[in-house]
Amino acid sequence: MNATAHSLQGKVALVTGASRGIGRAIAVQLARRGASVACVATSAERAQATAEACTAAGGKGVAYGVDVGVTAAVAELVAKVQADFGGLDILVNNAGITRDQLLLRMSEEDFDAVIQTNLKGTWNFTKAATRTLMKCSGRIVNIGSVVGVTGNAGQANYAASKAGVFGLTRSVAKELASRKVCCNAVAPGYIDTDMTAAIDPQAKEALLASIPLGRTGSPEDIALLVDYLCGPGGAYITGQTFVVDGGLSL
Ligand code: NDP
Repeated sequence: MNATAHSLQGKVALVTGASRGIGRAIAVQLARRGASVACVATSAERAQATAEACTAAGGKGVAYGVDVGVTAAVAELVAKVQADFGGLDILVNNAGITRDQLLLRMSEEDFDAVIQTNLKGTWNFTKAATRTLMKCSGRIVNIGSVVGVTGNAGQANYAASKAGVFGLTRSVAKELASRKVCCNAVAPGYIDTDMTAAIDPQAKEALLASIPLGRTGSPEDIALLVDYLCGPGGAYITGQTFVVDGGLSL
């Protein structure tokens, strides 16, 4: 099959952090391929517009709400999605937060909150979905960050959480390979979303100047790679981290 024109008809995908930004673009892209998409945000109301966009794009979108950091609630939610859709084939762990601060000023609370959402949230969903994914040669894609590879001043908590996601990705890939589950990570650079909207204009200009491809990324730049990894082109790829940053980290 042509990997660029594949179909995900009949597949069920769950995307966390789907209310906006990168998660929304991923959910809609998978729906364009015909997948049914469980769109997860902190509340179902916040994910409703994305669910509707998924349905309009050709898949069936349904909105769900949960705090990805709460283990029992995530297990319940994954069970509900499986019951509602009759299975689960694709898991995209995308929900994430920043609480930037220089190390000497960073509070324990801000360190814990970022680890809880970005790293433990990814583990929570992966653990809850693994049994089902093992039955259908499923796919897992974790959204990390290029700073999990390079590190970044003012983001010790965030960079640690994303580096953790890469280690988790490689371990899950090894553990589930015998069941034909592929698990990969994507490491975006500077992508235009609410998360980066708060960066001050001067810092933005400096960042832009350091991107060899001369532009910031769009959520779709990330969604298209996730789509590829979830399709036939991703069948022999596992345990990898793909940097999508316009050359920023070169
Ligand atoms: P946004 O801030 O635009 O969106 C974050 C999403 O995560 C929202 O859907 C939000 O839901 C959800 N979310 C946050 N916390 C929780 C939680 N505790 N439980 C459930 N859902 C939660 O982020 P982006 O789209 O920019 O980023 C998406 C991912 O990409 C993140 O993991 C981020 O770290 C990563 N990334 C982003 C980059 C960028 O430049 N934008 C660069 C590198 C990586 P709600 O709307 O309900 O709050």
